[in-house]
Amino acid sequence: MKTPSTIWDYAPAPESTKVEIKPQYGLFIDGAFREPRSGCSIETINPATEVSLSRISEADAIDVNLAVVAARKALKNWRRAPALERAKYLYRIARRIQERARELAVLETMDNGKPIRESRDEDVPQSAAHFFHHAGWCDKLKWACPTANGSAPEPIGVCGQIIPWNFPLMMAAWKIAPALACGNTVVLKPAETTSLTALRLAEILQEIDLPPGVVNIITGAGETGRELVAHGDVDKIAFTGSTDVGRAIASTVAGTKKRLTLELGGKSPNIIFADAAIDQAVEGIVSSIWANQGQVCCAGSRLLVEESVADEVIEKLRMRMRSLRVGDPLDKNTDIGAINSRAQLDRIESFIKIGVAEGAQRHEVSDVVLPPKGFWCKPCFFTEVQPAHTIAREEIFGPVLAVMTFRTPDEAVARANNTMYGLSAGIWTSRGSKAYEVARQIKAGVVWCNTFNQFDPAAPFGGYRESGFGREGGRSGLSAYCA
Ligand code: NAD
Repeated sequence: MKTPSTIWDYAPAPESTKVEIKPQYGLFIDGAFREPRSGCSIETINPATEVSLSRISEADAIDVNLAVVAARKALKNWRRAPALERAKYLYRIARRIQERARELAVLETMDNGKPIRESRDEDVPQSAAHFFHHAGWCDKLKWACPTANGSAPEPIGVCGQIIPWNFPLMMAAWKIAPALACGNTVVLKPAETTSLTALRLAEILQEIDLPPGVVNIITGAGETGRELVAHGDVDKIAFTGSTDVGRAIASTVAGTKKRLTLELGGKSPNIIFADAAIDQAVEGIVSSIWANQGQVCCAGSRLLVEESVADEVIEKLRMRMRSLRVGDPLDKNTDIGAINSRAQLDRIESFIKIGVAEGAQRHEVSDVVLPPKGFWCKPCFFTEVQPAHTIAREEIFGPVLAVMTFRTPDEAVARANNTMYGLSAGIWTSRGSKAYEVARQIKAGVVWCNTFNQFDPAAPFGGYRESGFGREGGRSGLSAYCA
């Protein structure tokens, strides 16, 4: 693959692709892989090369029912298992993820398109960390989520969990670990373009002898998800994905006894005050919008810069953008990998066209050579953006940043909150009191100060408004899985 011309050039450093990928995967139900009843399957491709990787099964209503029945059957023993017994399995999963880390990172990068640096250093370690963290909670639930009589809380029951394609293994870990720690059983549906690491996780569950049916992993597209949501014997739905699908799920679940948590989209502000350490802030902007090609629910896709330093920040950002290496995600030097699918690339490109048509000014690196095959989008940012512009309001879910300015902290807060979303925010200032005052007024689930995109299993993550409700991580995340 041809490397892009950038300011700094490095010798290619490709990761070995030697990982076993089966030509076809079945559904993981009741502890075993089985053929789907429908006989239907979906091709999954490497978005950086468009080469076919494998075929995943498409679960229909009968398969979904089999998975739910298996989860219900397993619930009887799992919920009554001694807390330390549940912890033992969670620790085993965490350790096996660590042991198979390289393989999982390569597989994630091939299936998703994200740089190996990110899957190796973020996705896989964070996934293991979530299992380790929740293993530690198993025998402490009566302190984490106290009940009126002081006993440990009861689990909710069978949990249907549906996840997106941007952090496939990590989202699976965020969902499965707290559910199991609290004594629930699970039917998980990964996204149709990125199911391979969840299926590899299923192999790990077999290796560590997790009792059959405690976790079931069924693959398929939106229809499979719809069947799971509508199933009458599921006690809770935990969904991470787009706001539109989240709304549809909420209306299906309304009027039933099912519990629901929704982790949805975002259009997060990243606020740079004039007194910030500007070089560090620019690094924060880079990671907030260009990590994972901007396909991050909490991406800092609206940059709000204090007017007096706007020229300096924009110039430094332009310089830094020039140094980003776009290309082979399996090269350890790559900063920007492939967009996950043709459909997502088309969506991003249509937003870029709208941005230009509405009068914003686009800045991108002109001399990047993109690989001939695959789905690629150069990182870019827009200036001359008005709050009413489409690119300032709607979630693009790509490496596209909208830059706006402000004059006072009050104006920064007003602009930051001028959104239907409320997932995250960043504040860059050298004054602690200002960071506190501004953070207090911002309506977002997470506010980072002088950093961005930092995650920890002990810290709750989630949204307000159209970004959803419920939290994942920490004690709040545990309580979402207790009756
Ligand atoms: P999506 O909503 O299209 O799909 C998410 C999952 O839902 C997939 O598994 C999909 O197959 C399934 N699905 C689709 N239609 C369904 C239906 N009608 N019923 C049940 N399931 C259905 O989202 P996506 O494109 O995969 O992911 C991108 C979106 O996810 C972005 O909006 C992003 O912000 C959001 N996201 C949010 C968080 C968070 O924590 N808040 C994290 C990651 C991604």
